[in-house]
Amino acid sequence: MKNIIIFGAPGSGKGTYSDEIAKRYGMGHISTGDVLRSEIKNGTELGKIAQGYIDNGQLIPDQLMIDILASQYDSLPQGKGVIFDGFPRTTAQAEALKKMLAERGHDLGMMIELIVSEDVLMERLLRRAQIEGRADDNEETIRKRFAVYHSQTEPLSKWFAAEGIRHTFDWSICKTKEGMLEAIFQEIEKENR
Ligand code: AMP
Repeated sequence: MKNIIIFGAPGSGKGTYSDEIAKRYGMGHISTGDVLRSEIKNGTELGKIAQGYIDNGQLIPDQLMIDILASQYDSLPQGKGVIFDGFPRTTAQAEALKKMLAERGHDLGMMIELIVSEDVLMERLLRRAQIEGRADDNEETIRKRFAVYHSQTEPLSKWFAAEGIRHTFDWSICKTKEGMLEAIFQEIEKENR
């Protein structure tokens, strides 16, 4: 399977769709947000550094994220394809990912962009706050995360388009999780034919 980069704003469903794709195709799954939350829970040095950034809705510095990503990637079984969920979030991270994969004889694969309007995103994140109790899912931090997304992450969409690997899926067209998944699965299968 080709590697997959799941791309989208906070609340766009990156984690949910990554889980479904990983299950269906037996792929590896790296969620950088989950890695950081587990480091925080375990009280590690990395967790202590990450906490301040996450609570403020800011991004963790690129070099730190790149090192974490490479070690996670190398710990997964080779050859099944990996889903990158929440990484890259900056152009520097994207360039580093491309280089890291090339050094291992692999490539970026395909990028899947989830397009969801901000009203829907806010509603979902506030609902998730009640269910999961994530510290960064409060309205003030969510607004900061949207701002960071627009300024630092969203421009990367064009970077992927220039690489010729961007595939977009629009919630307002697919309308349901099942509809989104069906469209995504079809596209993945087309790419891997
Ligand atoms: P997520 O679960 O993907 O929404 O990530 C939660 C938080 O973890 C983000 O708001 C960032 O503070 C941090 N984070 C996760 N992935 C990255 C990344 N690739 N680069 C920088 N910070 C990240």
